[in-house]
Amino acid sequence: MKRFFLLLTAICFAVSSEAAFINGQSYISISDWSRANGFHVVSFTRDQIILTNKTSRLVFNTDSPEAEINGVDVRLSFPVAKSALISQLDLETAIKPLVFLQKPSAKRIMTICLDPGHGGKDTGNRVPGFFWHNEKNYTLALAFELRDQLKKLGYNVILTRNSDTFVELPMRPAIANRNSADLFISLHFNASQADKNNVAGPETYCITPVGAASSNAQGEGADHGATIANHVEDKSLLLAYQIQKSLVQNLHAEDRDVRRARFAVLRDAQMPAILIEGGYMTNPSEGKRIYDAAWRQQMAAAIVKGILNYQKLTSPPSPQTPVVPAPTNALNGLSWKATNSTASSPPAPLPKDTRKYPSPRQRQ
Ligand SMILES: [Zn+2]
Repeated sequence: MKRFFLLLTAICFAVSSEAAFINGQSYISISDWSRANGFHVVSFTRDQIILTNKTSRLVFNTDSPEAEINGVDVRLSFPVAKSALISQLDLETAIKPLVFLQKPSAKRIMTICLDPGHGGKDTGNRVPGFFWHNEKNYTLALAFELRDQLKKLGYNVILTRNSDTFVELPMRPAIANRNSADLFISLHFNASQADKNNVAGPETYCITPVGAASSNAQGEGADHGATIANHVEDKSLLLAYQIQKSLVQNLHAEDRDVRRARFAVLRDAQMPAILIEGGYMTNPSEGKRIYDAAWRQQMAAAIVKGILNYQKLTSPPSPQTPVVPAPTNALNGLSWKATNSTASSPPAPLPKDTRKYPSPRQRQ
């Protein structure tokens, strides 16, 4: 019996050295995780921890949910703790799906459902100018442009609305589900009443993980249960990531993060589903671009590139190609089969790091 207690004490100590509970969340040591997963800690300061392996670079800001994964800002569900601990939930729902190869999709992408936000009596954001700019008009114009570019590549494209009509929110994912769409992409433009001159840039959303609060302005609490969309949330996150990356890089835009929200249009989608806030109509220079057809054409092209990158990373194996084994969990959830899924495909060396990595974040 005494030996049993000694053993129990030893186990408890081993676990407590690498794990903790903070505000009810299970956290583990970033150093332990990086060692178990082939990453090296290249910088460890009071405010920031940087990890790298051959293909990935992860930047964690302590006391903050802001992380950077291979050059793209991703908002975690819980802040990284000052003591260099990260929540197990973020490792599972944000890091793992983006840094490690995902299971291929069951079928190729054939049908893409585009959802131009708002319409009819629902104008969306309204911004004064020579005349009132209504968000609903620009989301529809972007959807038409994106549809044309995707059709040229051979995709079947359906729209949740083709004209200035009101479509109830639950109808939008229902249209995608009914048509067995392989992707659902909702298009919006943002507005901010505070600091209009400085708040700019795209944000791309996918469904919030179960057990976390959403990271949009009106984010719901963590007590919301699983939605249909949570069944494919890893793929949705990868799609959101690839599109946000392409928008930021190709439009040279401010990166306002991959974020999570239980938006009504995302909750019930049965396929990978995202919502793009393509920039701020209230920002004087970004607003002008949003109202310009030539810029929307570039934005559509950037979204297409993001879709193609996502497709490369998730396409089902051809009959000749051996099936890539699914990531395996080992070491008590610490270690996964390490294959990068967000580095360019084929994996390219990391670009010379000329970006600013602000800490604390220079962000509204
Ligand atoms: Zn909107």
